[in-house]
Amino acid sequence: MIIAIDGPSGSGKSTTAKAVAKALAYTYLDTGAMYRAVALGVLRLEIDPFNDERVAKVVNNMAVSFRGEDVFLNGDDVSKIIRYEETSKAVTPVSANPAVRELLVEKQREIAADHDIVMEGRDIGTVVFPNADYKFFLVADPDVRAMRRLKETEEDLSLEQIKADLLRRDKRDSSREYSPLKKAENAIEIDTSDLTFDEQVDKILSCIQTKEPKHGGK
Ligand code: C5P
Repeated sequence: MIIAIDGPSGSGKSTTAKAVAKALAYTYLDTGAMYRAVALGVLRLEIDPFNDERVAKVVNNMAVSFRGEDVFLNGDDVSKIIRYEETSKAVTPVSANPAVRELLVEKQREIAADHDIVMEGRDIGTVVFPNADYKFFLVADPDVRAMRRLKETEEDLSLEQIKADLLRRDKRDSSREYSPLKKAENAIEIDTSDLTFDEQVDKILSCIQTKEPKHGGK
């Protein structure tokens, strides 16, 4: 069974997807963390993230893996550092690079091959798994999203800085040529602006419990 949860940053995807996976005892996969890990790898090699050709050359030598929710780059635990602003800036051009997308999408499909999974990202319901059993698209007001990020961050950033970063990434993620951020036609849209965390999770779980899975489920 594949449950795809897409949406922009701060829409509540990660926390919700994790809780849904836990409630169903499914594997959880944060595909944004994979793009962030590759972006960090590019920065560590001192390569310009906008240099598509150089990035394409090195991406095949990067090993991105998970242990639970922790993310590893070439064996190094990078779970925290990939959330910092420097990586957030580099991830936009790196994730728009077709060579990076090709590699990571293949890996995402491999991981899901033998697991019931809740996968969150930008293109899960449109590109990675267009036939996912369930597709959700989470949205929320930019001010609410920025406030959520402010509460999470360990960096000394203002609400305005965070909001500007969110809007910048939304714009680039939605307008890029390959796998832009967009709602799959048959995805269920949920506006989380005024929902509590429990309400978001319940909304998704209630859809899953009431709708017959396309492929008969597990
Ligand atoms: O979800 P998160 O905000 O951590 O994702 C970081 C970035 O990775 C996004 O802004 C987007 O550019 C990219 N991304 C993507 N496709 C995905 C997941 C994330 O392009 N499936």
